[in-house]
Amino acid sequence: MTKLFVISGSSGVGKGTVIKGFLEKHPDFKLSISCTTRTKRMGEENGVNYFFLSQEEFENCIKNDEFLEWAEFSGNRYGTKKEYVQKCLSKGENLILEIDTKGALNVKKIMPEAILIFIAPPSFEELEARLRGRHTETEEAIQKRLASIKLEIENSQYFDRKVINDTVENAIQQLEKIML
Ligand code: 5GP
Repeated sequence: MTKLFVISGSSGVGKGTVIKGFLEKHPDFKLSISCTTRTKRMGEENGVNYFFLSQEEFENCIKNDEFLEWAEFSGNRYGTKKEYVQKCLSKGENLILEIDTKGALNVKKIMPEAILIFIAPPSFEELEARLRGRHTETEEAIQKRLASIKLEIENSQYFDRKVINDTVENAIQQLEKIML
């Protein structure tokens, strides 16, 4: 049976690495591609990591009710297209949405069968260190992200499952127990 999984976690928690590791072991799962208005980071490609949209293009998608959910996060907008998710699920794909907690809770309202998984850091201090260690963002951007972490942890109480990312291997094993 096809399943929809929604995975959220605070920025810098390493959820990208955990999900990548899971997908390498389980190629029958597919990571959903979201739309965003944020600028591309080095190495990112349009249609691979995200569909990179202008503000105007994103606005039009909202007006036309094309998003299953969307959220503003750190001054940028992110959204999951309804049509994209429906196409994947109707093809029989097991789909993973890697989105923020607010978006995840919105998906659950519309698709209650979705399983929400929160990837948590072992500690807040470790999370801050990881975020700074990435060296991809300005201090202002880091401060914004740290502020949003509180809200994410608050929202995670409504999630179906929690995975502690102490080591990547452990986290992948915990995901396997939930998802397979
Ligand atoms: P980043 O800019 O680091 O790629 O992503 C920032 C945040 O946006 C992450 O928490 C990520 O999970 C979230 N995000 C990515 N795509 C979507 C989406 O389609 N919808 C929502 N609500 N959040 C998303």
